[in-house]
Amino acid sequence: MAEETGTTQSPSRETSGGSDRGERRPPRPGGPGGPGGPGGREGGRKYFRRKKVCKFCVEKIEAVNYKDVRLLAQFVAESGKIVPRRLTGVCTPHQRRLSTAIKQARNIALLPFAGRPS
Ligand SMILES: [Zn+2]
Repeated sequence: MAEETGTTQSPSRETSGGSDRGERRPPRPGGPGGPGGPGGREGGRKYFRRKKVCKFCVEKIEAVNYKDVRLLAQFVAESGKIVPRRLTGVCTPHQRRLSTAIKQARNIALLPFAGRPS
């Protein structure tokens, strides 16, 4: 009974607006046209890898084997670089194992350090 000061005085304006966090999202009439959004994030998403699901999670590969070159090569770009996670959709823990495996595979010359120079 000591606390009657101000902890439970918020429901005074609950009936006026209903849910104060009204999450109404207009169902995108056509293309990117966010209302008042200066930093338009949506836009050129033209990679043909559309569903971003971690391949390793889907196939339930726990540890990435560095000897599996055919698997690793999917995540190495033509230039020899490891394709970043945001392009491949690999989740973070798997990307770390993947990059480790790729580096191990490079050391025993299963994968190139550098591909063809462009
Ligand atoms: Zn994963």
